[in-house]
Amino acid sequence: MPTANGNANPEVVATVAEQIEVANQTFATNRSVRARAGALRTETSALLLTYRAYRFARIAGGSDVSDNDRVRRFLHDFCSGDGQSKSYAGYSRGSVCQACGSAIRPGDLEYDVVTTTAELRLDALCYAVFMEVQRTMPGAAAP
Ligand SMILES: [Zn+2]
Repeated sequence: MPTANGNANPEVVATVAEQIEVANQTFATNRSVRARAGALRTETSALLLTYRAYRFARIAGGSDVSDNDRVRRFLHDFCSGDGQSKSYAGYSRGSVCQACGSAIRPGDLEYDVVTTTAELRLDALCYAVFMEVQRTMPGAAAP
């Protein structure tokens, strides 16, 4: 900012320079954090694919016996993870069942099953399986 005689005010110049330095440091830190987050995301995906591959829906036709077993195992694993869960039902705006991978059409019922650390969106068929699995779990509370 110029002073009355037209020269730049040295205090303002110093402040602007400091702010530019802070902005540069912030930008560098931001880039570093983003790079680290990307690396962690990649590592997480690799770990999930290695140890939890059954959690990812395979593309398969219909609901054959092996797919039902996979969904049941998946839901059993989910139930045994974090103790109590709560269920919320609502009309879908178009989503995907996280147990079987089927599309949930807009307007159909969908269920969000929430634990302290995880959340699962299910279609009506998989939610029925979830309820059945949960009933068989020792010490499991009602959803
Ligand atoms: Zn499903």
